[in-house]
Amino acid sequence: MTTADLAFLLLRGATAILCALAARGALHRSRLPGQPRQRRWRAGLAAVVMLALGVFAFEDGLHVALGQPGEPIGWRSWVWVLLDLFIPAQVIAALATLRQRDRLEAELAAAAHRDPLTGLPNRTGFTEAASAALAAVSRDGRPVVGAMLDIDHFKAINDGWGHAAGDAVLREVAKAMRGALRPGDVLARVGGEEFALLLLGVDTEAARSLLERLQAAAAMVPHPGAPARCVTLSAGLAPVQGLGLAALENGLRSADGALYAAKAAGRNRVMVAG
Ligand code: GH3
Ligand code: MG
Ligand code: MG
Repeated sequence: MTTADLAFLLLRGATAILCALAARGALHRSRLPGQPRQRRWRAGLAAVVMLALGVFAFEDGLHVALGQPGEPIGWRSWVWVLLDLFIPAQVIAALATLRQRDRLEAELAAAAHRDPLTGLPNRTGFTEAASAALAAVSRDGRPVVGAMLDIDHFKAINDGWGHAAGDAVLREVAKAMRGALRPGDVLARVGGEEFALLLLGVDTEAARSLLERLQAAAAMVPHPGAPARCVTLSAGLAPVQGLGLAALENGLRSADGALYAAKAAGRNRVMVAG
């Protein structure tokens, strides 16, 4: 075998290896769940083409280097060898770009559902999580309660001690409330200092004592004007009757009415709708 034959065989072998790697990446992509069928098919097709190119390149390398040893290799064959090497390398680079795009898409989707200050779901995240939770309890018919909570005189914290102090209180109140709830309960920040809550498997009386527990948890959060002041919450709650989005919205509207009544009655209290 001449040096040219050996170089040809090595280049063909490298192409075959790159093709195998590209085919594996494309096959993995075609199996990723939750993507449109068209994307799966395209990735599957790319895997088959890469595999075919790899087999062809290897077979061609063996044929030229071992089948016709010593025969001069024309410049056209060298051009094809280099072009064939370029194709799987490009597919591998494209797959890496697609993986990065997937990661960014997932990050964007998560950010669209989350409040960056507290880490809780935002209004969109709440609707999504609450709908899923309602669909789950629909199977066992457990009661569901919706609640709206609002920090009392929050503007005074911002005005008196600055926006950063207000942010710290929001973060700590959110953390304290989340820590006092069960994992299945859905808590979200739906406004400036306003939170929505969905409690699963409790009646309104049990929900009232749970909300009082949240008030106690919020009261432990350091107030910038302590010890003279303490963080207090007002809350309204209402049963969610039914399982769809409309039932959720109705329940929360009633809870919001009860919250308004709690504010009007002097704040720092929990009121049940009706
Ligand atoms: P009430 O007891 O009736 O609820 O009065 P409040 O002062 O708590 O409510 P109000 O609606 O008058 O003020 C809410 C304030 O929350 C006004 C707004 O500037 C502030 N706010 C909204 N979002 C943020 C935030 O992300 N960070 C901070 N620090 N303040 C915020
Ligand atoms: Mg408030
Ligand atoms: Mg408010």
